[in-house]
Amino acid sequence: MGNQTEKNDYQIVRENFADKLADISFDSKNYSTGRVDFAGDGVVRIVGLPNAKYGELLDIDGRYRAIVLDLEESEVGAIVLDAVQSVSAGMLVKSTGQIVEVPVGAEMFGRVIAPLGNPIDGLGSLEISKSRPIEASAPMIFDRGRVNEPLQTGILAVDSMIPIGKGQRELIIGDRQTGKTSMAVDIILNQKGKNVYCVYVSVGQKSSSVSNIVHTLGRFGALEYTCVVCATASDSAPLQYIAPFSGCAIAEEMMYDGKDVLIVYDDLSKHAVAYRAMSLLLKRPPGREAYPGDIFYLHSRLLERAAKLDEKHGGGSMTAIPIVETLAGDISAYVPTNVISITDGQIYLESELFNAGVRPAVNVGLSVSRVGGSAQFDGIRRASGKLRLDLSQYRELAVFAQFGSELDGATSEILAKGARIAETLKQPLRCLYDVAHEMIILHLAMNELLKDVPVDKVTEFVQSFIEFLDTDKADIVKEISDNKLLSLENGFLIEDELKEFYDFYFEDAAK
Ligand code: ATP
Ligand code: MG
Repeated sequence: MGNQTEKNDYQIVRENFADKLADISFDSKNYSTGRVDFAGDGVVRIVGLPNAKYGELLDIDGRYRAIVLDLEESEVGAIVLDAVQSVSAGMLVKSTGQIVEVPVGAEMFGRVIAPLGNPIDGLGSLEISKSRPIEASAPMIFDRGRVNEPLQTGILAVDSMIPIGKGQRELIIGDRQTGKTSMAVDIILNQKGKNVYCVYVSVGQKSSSVSNIVHTLGRFGALEYTCVVCATASDSAPLQYIAPFSGCAIAEEMMYDGKDVLIVYDDLSKHAVAYRAMSLLLKRPPGREAYPGDIFYLHSRLLERAAKLDEKHGGGSMTAIPIVETLAGDISAYVPTNVISITDGQIYLESELFNAGVRPAVNVGLSVSRVGGSAQFDGIRRASGKLRLDLSQYRELAVFAQFGSELDGATSEILAKGARIAETLKQPLRCLYDVAHEMIILHLAMNELLKDVPVDKVTEFVQSFIEFLDTDKADIVKEISDNKLLSLENGFLIEDELKEFYDFYFEDAAK
C-alpha cells in the first residue's frame, strides 16, 4: 500500500526536474552555437551553428563580430569584422538573428567614419539612436519616379555633353592617375548650397590620400554636408567589402527621408579585389580573372539601390557615382564591363589626354549618359548645340592635320573652332562653374566669338572673363542663373562685354 503513496527518490527528482524544465523557454536562437574551427586572414570556419542564415551577424566569444557568407553541410564560413588577429580556433560562436547595421541620420554628415559606423575623425562619439541594415533591397519599380532633374557637376565637359540626373548612376572610369578622384571630389564641392547630401566611400586607398580628400572637403566648406566612409588599404578585406554597403545605407536613409543624396564609391575595382580575396579564402571556386561568380551580383545589388523615388514616396533621390580603375585603358576587362553594364553611362578619362594637358581628360567618344539628356537644363542643352559633333570632328581632323598636309579653308575653320572649344572645356581643379557660367562659355565657344583669341590663351581668357562678369556684371549673371536660360538680349549684352573685355585684356597683356 505504502508503495502507492510514497514516492521513491527517483520519482521526486524527476518531478522537480520537470518543474524546472517547464520554467525554461525553448528559444531556438539561444541554442544556435558553434565553435571556431579555423581562423585566418579575416575568415573563420565554424562547426555547429545549424540555424545560421546567409548574411547573419555572429558573435564570437562575446567580443568580435562576423558575417556569415558560406553555408555548407557541416560548416559555416564567415568573415570577421573586428580584431581579425585575435580570433582563434576553439572560440564559442553564437548566432544573433540580426544582420549588420550602421548608425544613420543627418548627424552622420560632417563626420569621417569606419565602415561599421564608429567615428575616426577624433571629433568625439556619435549619439545616434537610429540604424539601418547595410544590406537592403532596392526600391521597387513602381516606387520610382523619372530621372528628370539635373545634378549640376560644375564641370563644363560633363554638364554639357554627359549630363547627370538626380537618381542616375554614372560611372567614372579610367587608368590610374587620370583625375577620377579629383572629378568626384569636385562634383561633391559643387553641391554646396544645393541641398544635396553627399557620401564619399573610400575603399582600399592610402590613409594619406583619404586625409587629403577630407582636408579638401573641409577647406571648401563641403564637409558639413558630406559623410566620409573609409576603409583604407590597411583595413581587412571584410571591412573593405562592407564599406560601400554601409555608405549606401547612410545615403538610403536620407533618400527615404525625401532628400537628395550623392554617393561616390572610390573605387569599385579595389572593392572587387577585396571581395575576391575573401571569396578565395572561403574556398569559393574562382572564375574569370579569379573573381568569384557572384561579382556581378555584388555590384548590381549595390548600385540598384540608387534611385529617384516618386512623389508618393517623398521624391528623394540617390545619385551614385562609382569609380573604376582600368589597366592600360582596357575597358573590356571583367569588372569594368560589369559596372559599365550596370550603370546608366560612363565618363571615360584617358591618360593620353590627361598627359597632353586636356584636363579633365574626358574622352567624349567613349563617354555617354544614357538618361541624362532628359535631365539637362534646357538652356544648357540649347547652348551646347552640336558641341559633341564639333568636338569629335575636330579630334578626327586634328589627327590628319598633324601630317602637315595642305588644308582647305573649311577644314582649317573646323580646326580653329574645334581647338577653341577644346580649350574652353579645360578646367583647373576646384574651379567650378555655375549654370550661368556654363551657358555663357558655351555661347562664346559655339558661336565662334573667341576666334580672335590665340588658342593657347583661350582657357585663361575665358576664366578671366567669367571672373570679370562675376564682379562687374553680377546682375546679368544672376538673371541668367535664376532663369537657367541665356536670353537673346543677355546674349547680346555678353557679346558687347566680351568686345570691351577683349581690348582691355590684350592691351594689358601687350604692355
Ligand atoms: P588614382 O588612380 O591614383 O586614384 P585618380 O585617377 O583618382 O588617381 P587623381 O588622384 O584625382 O587621379 O588625380 C591625379 C593628379 O592629377 C592629381 O595630382 C591631381 O591634382 C591632378 N589633376 C586631376 N584633375 C586635374 C585637373 N582638372 N587639372 C589639373 N590637375 C588635375
Ligand atoms: Mg583616385
